[in-house]
Amino acid sequence: MTRKILEPAREIDVVHETDVLVIGSGPGGLPAALAAARAGVEVTLVERFGCFGGNLTVVGVEGMHWYRHEETVESDGIAREFEDRAKDMGAAVPESQSLSYEIDSEGFKLVADQMVLGEPNIRPMLHRQFVAPLMDGNTIIGAITESKAGREAILAKRVIDATGDADVAQRAGAPVFTTPVEKMMAASVMFHVAGVDKQKFMDGIKADPQTYKDWGGGGEWNIETTGKEDEMFSPFLHKPFAQAIKDGMIPPNLNTIAGTWGACHDTGELTYMNLIHMANCDGTDPDSLTTYEIEGRRQAMLAIEALRAYTPGCNGIRLRNFGMSIGIRDTRKVDTVYNMTGQDVREQGRFDDSVGIFPEFIDGYGILILPTTGRYFQIPYRNLLPKQVENLLVSGRITGGDTTSHAATRNMACCAVAGQAAGIAAAVSVKTGKGVDAVDLTLVRHELDRQGARYT
Ligand SMILES: Cc1cc2nc3c(=O)[nH]c(=O)nc-3n(C[C@H](O)[C@H](O)[C@H](O)COP(=O)(O)OP(=O)(O)OC[C@H]3O[C@@H](n4cnc5c(N)ncnc54)[C@H](O)[C@@H]3O)c2cc1C
Repeated sequence: MTRKILEPAREIDVVHETDVLVIGSGPGGLPAALAAARAGVEVTLVERFGCFGGNLTVVGVEGMHWYRHEETVESDGIAREFEDRAKDMGAAVPESQSLSYEIDSEGFKLVADQMVLGEPNIRPMLHRQFVAPLMDGNTIIGAITESKAGREAILAKRVIDATGDADVAQRAGAPVFTTPVEKMMAASVMFHVAGVDKQKFMDGIKADPQTYKDWGGGGEWNIETTGKEDEMFSPFLHKPFAQAIKDGMIPPNLNTIAGTWGACHDTGELTYMNLIHMANCDGTDPDSLTTYEIEGRRQAMLAIEALRAYTPGCNGIRLRNFGMSIGIRDTRKVDTVYNMTGQDVREQGRFDDSVGIFPEFIDGYGILILPTTGRYFQIPYRNLLPKQVENLLVSGRITGGDTTSHAATRNMACCAVAGQAAGIAAAVSVKTGKGVDAVDLTLVRHELDRQGARYT
């Protein structure tokens, strides 16, 4: 049995009081903070790292809108604004497989800074890790953070959990589902390389273009499509690693090394290298995270060696950087008042309490469906409402749902849709003095309209 000690109780400072406290600043949290501030309340944005953006900046996930094709219908709002602002600030380049821009993970740190600083109602609090909720019975009234300054308390009228792992909801006592570790989507150490001969690389891609059908052929990469995706171009890399296994450069058990590149820059960088996929990593267990961070870096260097040997234009490449953290695709999901289903995301779910829409884009758990038609589903407000805890909303990849719906709602633009709605709902709730479970949806939708986000 694990030995236990008693942590002594202590008095700590209340360093700040706010209307809406958003914890986590990724694609689910940053839009929540921006939207609540734009709706006219005081917002505090707490983040454990030194930049905003979550996976987009911290992990290096640059493909926020790679689903976009001619007929795609999407939510607009802050999800779209991220891309537009990144373009305006020179932090985005055309994406290789879609009508979208790939957002530069380093440049987006500056974009996010400007968006946050552009809203005087937001108080940014970086370098603070949420460690415990402050509760009054089953009502959340704030949070305790830990930082170089020690423990601090922040009091809030409403709280939004956008931690990606439901840290707040779970510790506040809301019911959560945790995918069994052997079924969790693989974790990835992302990296970017420099020193590519762009002309030669692109010529090589054109000479042997890969399609989504090529994703098949083993393990992680056997996917279900609707058929229409099969012949479409995909920036997929598999052959160099298969060859490296044949030649003994990569051990045969690492046939999981394969995946997509994001953008090839004129400056000779290949970014968003999504090639390392490791099963059995539990993103809520620091020992597991330790093991797979180190293992992921090792595998990334093997992948680079194979790219050098077998990919046109890559013989002179070197590692530019790893993501600041391993990338985790799913851990806990909150049991919300309405949990999304596979049927909802596959068959254009419609809801009376819709607060956002997202195109029919499913990527994960063995499914790849692209929104090449105008099909889309709605997100109900109840999907942002956890059970059993008052004054708390959830946003981002932790919103309730089964594995197939997770493969849709986990996408960053969908996280932003949920975030914008959660931020507005929290603000309306504060302004009208009604709990988040009794919020006036007419007012929420009025503000969504004003902020340019679709919900029908
Ligand atoms: C390798 C990889 C590739 C992916 N590819 C794509 C893709 O191509 N397109 C796409 O749309 N999506 C992709 N995704 C999915 C997408 O990145 C995530 O689902 C999405 O970022 C989730 O957003 P979030 O805001 O819920 O969580 P996150 O992006 O994880 O953000 C959570 C934020 O909360 C902070 N935080 C966490 N805990 C605490 C705490 N206790 N205290 C304070 N702060 C805390 C974190 O530091 C982070 O900034 C990918 C994911 C991975 C891992």
